[in-house]
Amino acid sequence: MEIKAIRGFNDLLPDEIGKWHFVEETARQIFEEFGFSELRIPVIEKTELFSRGIGEATDIVEKEMYTFTDRSGNSLTLRPEATASMARAYLEHQMYSFDPVAKVYFIGPMFRYERPQKGRYRQFYQIDAEVFGVSNPMVDAEVIVMLIQFLKKVGLENLELQINSLGCRECRPRYREELKKYFATKTFQLCEDCQRRLQTNPLRIFDCKVETCKDAIADAPQVTDFLCQDCQKHFDKVKGYLQEMGLTYLLNPRMVRGLDYYTRTAFEVVSYNLGSQNAVAGGGRYDNLFQEIGGLDIPGIGFAIGMERLISLLPAEKTFLQNPQLFIAALGEETQMQAYRLLSQLHLQGIRAELDYEGKSLKSQMRRANKLNAQHVLILGGDELKRGKAVLRDMASKSQEEIPMGGLLDILKERINRD
Ligand code: AMP
Repeated sequence: MEIKAIRGFNDLLPDEIGKWHFVEETARQIFEEFGFSELRIPVIEKTELFSRGIGEATDIVEKEMYTFTDRSGNSLTLRPEATASMARAYLEHQMYSFDPVAKVYFIGPMFRYERPQKGRYRQFYQIDAEVFGVSNPMVDAEVIVMLIQFLKKVGLENLELQINSLGCRECRPRYREELKKYFATKTFQLCEDCQRRLQTNPLRIFDCKVETCKDAIADAPQVTDFLCQDCQKHFDKVKGYLQEMGLTYLLNPRMVRGLDYYTRTAFEVVSYNLGSQNAVAGGGRYDNLFQEIGGLDIPGIGFAIGMERLISLLPAEKTFLQNPQLFIAALGEETQMQAYRLLSQLHLQGIRAELDYEGKSLKSQMRRANKLNAQHVLILGGDELKRGKAVLRDMASKSQEEIPMGGLLDILKERINRD
């Protein structure tokens, strides 16, 4: 029986990879302009990094992690997100001893055992950016500005920035209690999962998509009515900085994000061009995460962008195919060597050149050049070659010219770069 890929795990085929490269390169360029450096983390970590970091009573830790025991009996997990690993690396390598402020980013696949559907996979790619060591609300605005700048640069439109504040260790417990009291009066409306969440983590009820739970959520108390003075001040400043930068946002007091480590600022960018999985990116501040994973008291803020969702939103008219700049059609066996030599020289000069390996007829070689959407075709062979000439065809204008074999490379480079 033919072996197929695992459900929820995708291949990225060559005809779509141009989009991925474009998005990754744009992220690198913009993030580095904002002073971020890449930090590459491992695919697998000790399970407790995520259970302690993300929180035991979250959907990710309760039911979505790819956890297994290795041959030495250690419990390991495929990373479901990047922030906890990035924080671990910052602590482990004492990056703070050089400069307490670290601005880092990472691009790579994450793994969650979720129910696959459009925009939701079990292996999916995230672009992740984090700032460690700054509690100033100015940096909350800075990362949001960088995120929006990036999304605009790749060409996304119709986006909505939603923000909220989730409070801190001082004020959130009070809110949690209020929420518990409120939902306790609605238990008959809550699904089985939410009845359990009510005991373990009532904030999670906000993420439930069951209709009766959604009805119960409608009149629930709002976290922003329970913020302590410091959290309120912080949130006001973030909003002020965003206004200063000319960013519009929607206050969404129901947005709680699926991970426990968030404190104060939380944000999401949603697209109205996506279906039910409409969040393109999400992030927030996590001032307790470092302590949860056994480290120093260090504040942090960051975001993750879902690459599959982002790529599905790229403008359709934009092409990302890396078509050959030149296709060499060589006729006759003796010209094959000449064609091969030329191809190697062109590659060394950074020109995307392609060759026919089969020694087929000119007609079939031209057909292939057309299929590959080659910009030019160089025909080597026939009477022209005997006269020391080759024929260069511009595939867009369909014009042809004879060019001398001596100095061929320079002329080709000139013609190709002219387009
Ligand atoms: P999170 O780490 O849950 O805050 O997610 C950040 C972003 O990653 C989301 O806004 C989505 O764009 C993307 N994302 C999260 N889970 C998945 C998934 N299972 N499949 C595809 N994209 C995802």
